[in-house]
Amino acid sequence: MSSEQPRQDTTAIADTARNYVGNWTDPDGEVHEITNPATNQTFATVTYSTEADVDRTIGIAREAFQDWRETPVTERSQYLFDLKQELEDHQENIAQALSREHGKTLAEARGEIRRGIENVEVAAGIPNMTREESGMVEDVAPGIDETAVRQPLGVFAAITPFNFPAMIPLWFLPYAVATGNTFILKPSEKVPLSSQLIFEAVDAVGFPDGVVNLVNGGADTVNALLEHDNIEGISFVGSTPIAKHIYTTAAEHGKRVQAQGGAKNYAVVTESAQLDEAIPNVIGSVYGNAGQRCLANDVVVGVGDVYAELRERLLSAVDDLTVGSGLNEETDVGPLITDESYTRVNELIETAIEQGAELVVDGRDFEHSEYPDGNFMGPVLLENVTTEMDITQTEIFGPVLCLADAEDLDTAIEMVNSTEYGNASTIYTERGGEARKYRYDVDAGNIGINVGVCAPMGFFHFGGRKGSFFGDLHAQGEDAVSFYTEKTISIERYFNWPHTTVRYTIYNAYHSCSS
Ligand code: NAD
Repeated sequence: MSSEQPRQDTTAIADTARNYVGNWTDPDGEVHEITNPATNQTFATVTYSTEADVDRTIGIAREAFQDWRETPVTERSQYLFDLKQELEDHQENIAQALSREHGKTLAEARGEIRRGIENVEVAAGIPNMTREESGMVEDVAPGIDETAVRQPLGVFAAITPFNFPAMIPLWFLPYAVATGNTFILKPSEKVPLSSQLIFEAVDAVGFPDGVVNLVNGGADTVNALLEHDNIEGISFVGSTPIAKHIYTTAAEHGKRVQAQGGAKNYAVVTESAQLDEAIPNVIGSVYGNAGQRCLANDVVVGVGDVYAELRERLLSAVDDLTVGSGLNEETDVGPLITDESYTRVNELIETAIEQGAELVVDGRDFEHSEYPDGNFMGPVLLENVTTEMDITQTEIFGPVLCLADAEDLDTAIEMVNSTEYGNASTIYTERGGEARKYRYDVDAGNIGINVGVCAPMGFFHFGGRKGSFFGDLHAQGEDAVSFYTEKTISIERYFNWPHTTVRYTIYNAYHSCSS
């Protein structure tokens, strides 16, 4: 493990996160400080939105809905092509802001923005996506045709977490507006500045006023959205307890909901795995984003004889990781988002040790020479963990690898399925049969075969199972189109249509036989 010389700190730049409701506006709530996780210094502020601010925003979004709905779908998709271009043009700027407010490395920030832009690209193809869902059946009865059309519903809102401040809003925004709805984003109050830059892009595109809106705030702002009569649906990503609250409260208020929760993901390494490739992949999955990823595999299970070599090579790879500011290109592991996160992860490690885990690598006392007040935790590796321990059942969200062994694949799969979550899981194998069994038997929404962070592309849906997801339609792709639209059946006939006698003869013959 090594430190590095950080770039010049940019934390002195003051900034403030504002709302966007057809234009930049300032809400009336409390002002909160935003701190840089690498320095723990305040560098910006965010003003929370009151219930009245939320009500005003929903009113404007609701007013914009009818015109936006009537805007030809080809025109709506042009706005998304323009948005893609704006985001492309400003992606480096967004990456810098994102890395500063979140702490993740610039490489991770750049990658995240690409995944976000990918969703804008997919949603720009909305004419095709909605067309494929429809289709007319002619002559369901004589001269009568039937079809299903997808129609937008009104105002949708998305509430997003701190760990992907640029990508996750773009899981929702492009699809909601492409399908003809208007939209409100409530980003995480811990990282509201990336959204400011996304909305600079929205502003530059020139969406009609009220189509794409941003409200900042915390729990009260969220609850005002959940309970408002003029919100049709809520998309949520965050921790499981809050996902449950969102799901039940929004449903009680008559809304459709998709609520993605927390995760506990295992990776299984078999004897046939190609360790040269598997090891860096596992390391990236566990320690990337300082472990603050819903797809992080924080428990790694070696099956059978692979365990000894796996252990040795993981230890050597961990030793090569560089901890530091995300703004330094050399950094592999950035800081945790807050001091409280550090304390929470530390307590989980302490409990694991009390419960019998062995601490093999301890990065908890890592101190950055330039940023001694930052929320840094160096890589931690625990061995001999079992499924009875809290640390193998609880989401860690920190740079911690828990190493376990299993005598065979069946035992490993039992371990993988032992948690209350079902977001993702990875197997490293070169045997098709093992891979198939894993995909078949593991109860998770996303399976990686030799892929440690199994994030689907924008044209596939993304969501977990069990305690990782509440709802039925996931984010992205075809599920997003279904979530943001209502299917209407249209049965039609025209009395002046010149029918042929042949068709009536067949119809009458059929009905006289069957009655
Ligand atoms: P969080 O649940 O604390 O916050 C998420 C959002 O909920 C924020 O916008 C926040 O303002 C709001 N919120 C927080 N408390 C609330 C309350 N009491 N009432 C109403 N709203 C409230 O999550 P986080 O710490 O920002 O993000 C990390 C979590 O998100 C992890 O559990 C991670 O696994 C999960 N996550 C899941 C996915 C997925 O796809 N399943 C993706 C990314 C992150």
